[in-house]
Amino acid sequence: MNLLLLGPPGAGKGTQAKRLEDAHGFVQLSTGDMLRAAAAAGTEYGKKAKAVMERGELVSDEIVIAIIGERLEQPDLKDGFILDGFPRNVPQAEALDKLLASRGLKLDAVIEMAVDDEALIERISGRFTCSSCGKGYHDKFERPATEGVCDKCGGREFTRRADDNAQTVRSRLEVYHKQTAPLVGYYGEQGTLNTIDGMAAIDDVARQIEEVVKAA
Ligand code: ADP
Ligand code: ADP
Ligand code: ZN
Repeated sequence: MNLLLLGPPGAGKGTQAKRLEDAHGFVQLSTGDMLRAAAAAGTEYGKKAKAVMERGELVSDEIVIAIIGERLEQPDLKDGFILDGFPRNVPQAEALDKLLASRGLKLDAVIEMAVDDEALIERISGRFTCSSCGKGYHDKFERPATEGVCDKCGGREFTRRADDNAQTVRSRLEVYHKQTAPLVGYYGEQGTLNTIDGMAAIDDVARQIEEVVKAA
């Protein structure tokens, strides 16, 4: 089954994508993670993307569509995938429709995670991630069971994203409302849209998503 998690920065897309990976074996496809890996590796497009990401703007459609197009060719997606952070505007959504159609694939469900801006700012400012396995945490809402030790892999190193600061978050939210929110209408018309309450606690959001997966 192929899913798309749609929602503003900090909505919980990554958190829920990882749960879906564990529960169903679907593969998380996060363009943000792919771009951060390219930036860390210092590839040509990674360097370009890094500066754009630090301003909280969108990396060019050309780059992200190429990255996703290539990723969709790989053989590990047979049991399904979860798009997280792509598409982020209507041209990307149209490109995705073409990429999927040409490979005989489709989206089984689009899940919109609705969260208020104020909650997003709180979620983003407390976010940190295990450097070894990528599991996400939050200072207040999802602390490791043992202080300083990753629940999943035992790692002891954590990172915070350079773009998770108050100023960049404001521009990321603005970009979301202007460019990404129109996708709610786009998928509404396609008939694949399911809106869930992303303000709920993490386990409850996971239950709402499971309902959608069962019905899809
Ligand atoms: P996104 O991938 O949409 O940007 P994340 O999954 O990284 O969002 O979540 C942002 C932060 O909020 C993380 O620190 C995460 O632990 C926390 N978080 C995720 N879902 C919830 C929730 N339902 N309630 C409270 N905090 C949450
Ligand atoms: P979040 O959902 O927490 O805001 P992501 O990790 O999805 O964060 O994205 C971080 C940054 O990476 C974005 O602000 C943007 O600069 C870039 N990015 C990620 N996905 C895309 C995309 N599909 N199109 C353009 N830029 C992207
Ligand atoms: Zn870990």
